[in-house]
Amino acid sequence: MNWSNAPRGELASVPPPATLVCAECQTAADERARGWRAFLAFDPDEDEFESLVIFCPGCAESEFGIPSEESRHRE
Ligand SMILES: [Zn+2]
Repeated sequence: MNWSNAPRGELASVPPPATLVCAECQTAADERARGWRAFLAFDPDEDEFESLVIFCPGCAESEFGIPSEESRHRE
C-alpha cells in the first residue's frame, strides 16, 4: 500500500466515531467511557438480539445492580 497515493480529503467523508450516550439518562460519555456498560437488548418476540444498549455507570448500577469499579464496596 502506497499511502502517498491515497486521495486527499477522503477522511473528511468518514463519519465521526459514535458517541456513547446512556440509554437511560441521555448522558454522553467522555472519551474514556470509564465504567460504562454495554448490553445486548434481546427481543423475545423476534427471537433475536435487537441492538446494543449502553448505560452510564450510575444507571447500570441502578438498573441492573452492577456496581461500577469506583463504587464497588467490600462486602
Ligand atoms: Zn445514565
